[in-house]
Amino acid sequence: MSRRLYMSAPDVGELEERYVLDAIRSGWIAPLGPDVDAFERSLAELTGRSHAVALSSGTAALHLALLAHGVRPGDTVLTSTMTFAATANAIRYVGAHPYFIDSLEATGNIDPALLEEALTGMADRGERPAALLPVDLLGKVADYPKISALAARFEVSMISDAAESLGASHLGRPAGSFGSAAAISFNGNKIMTTSGGGMLLMDNADVAGRVRYLATQARQPVPHYEHTEVGYNYRLSNILAALGRAQLERLPGMIARRREIRELYRSLFADVAGVEIFGGTTDAEDNFWLTSILVDPTVSGWPASELSEALAADNIESRPLWKPMHLQPVYTHDRALVNGVSQRLFETGITLPSGSVLSDADLDRISVRIRAYLGSK
Ligand SMILES: *Cc1c(COP(=O)(O)O)cnc(C)c1O
Repeated sequence: MSRRLYMSAPDVGELEERYVLDAIRSGWIAPLGPDVDAFERSLAELTGRSHAVALSSGTAALHLALLAHGVRPGDTVLTSTMTFAATANAIRYVGAHPYFIDSLEATGNIDPALLEEALTGMADRGERPAALLPVDLLGKVADYPKISALAARFEVSMISDAAESLGASHLGRPAGSFGSAAAISFNGNKIMTTSGGGMLLMDNADVAGRVRYLATQARQPVPHYEHTEVGYNYRLSNILAALGRAQLERLPGMIARRREIRELYRSLFADVAGVEIFGGTTDAEDNFWLTSILVDPTVSGWPASELSEALAADNIESRPLWKPMHLQPVYTHDRALVNGVSQRLFETGITLPSGSVLSDADLDRISVRIRAYLGSK
């Protein structure tokens, strides 16, 4: 069997090796250290934020963001249904309930008109949500100008799940700069990685202090171990921050490579009826994290899943888009305002190998398979 080609494998090389080795040799192993501080400063600078706190995962960043914004058991948080489970899970960690909002056709991001409808409905019933948690899907930034205006009008705080969108922008403003806090992920399959890790970005010094405190077991600033609250062990280690600093230097190059891969798929499917590049008309400020296609089987004559099987026969990974949260067994009892878009994206979309680590030879192998499949139709 040929070597497996993944959808988005880590792209880690000599620069990362050197930074990690330097961190180990410096003696800063136990867990915090100068690479964590420098990594935080770089991310804050890149996203135009005053504060950044490096954490053990994007999920931890979402969890602490909700806690630091006072979200409590029994509260409601409005969020995108088209997302990875981590977004909804973080809402449940604090005992709150997600209220899932469906998507815009062009990007899969939260539909501001539906969000407004949900907020208006809640206000009419005398209910008040504790927070909004929109998601930047697959590297496209949500429509924050509209979402922020709603947050202001309904007096609710807004936290951005920017786990997938580092390096992207919206109307010239970087992903991670929107909302009162934004969570980023450095999981192994994201645009850049620390093997596992995350970051919470914010401008408010009190929120940053609260997040640092909660992430280090809620230790009071006294010599003995004094605790007045339940805390978490959520900080990123210095060695992983060193890996992150190397990745950050390479981020523009990795985005450029992913853009080339998008262009390759665009050319492969250009003349194929019933197939479109998902979000393909809104590419300008994308980080090109993943490239997906939408297949309308009534036009193409074949379903997306059949192309997936053809790729799998040569050990090439591809997957359906996120299954919307309102269709997940664990969340079917929660509230949702849906328009059918996310379900359609889930049923007709597949994500193709998109990682910057893919070589030209790997891309040739994928192209040969796709051309052969299309030729057989
Ligand atoms: C990856 C991801 C997360 C979680 O990040 P981890 O670092 O894996 O915990 C949260 N939200 C979205 C939208 C993601 O894609």
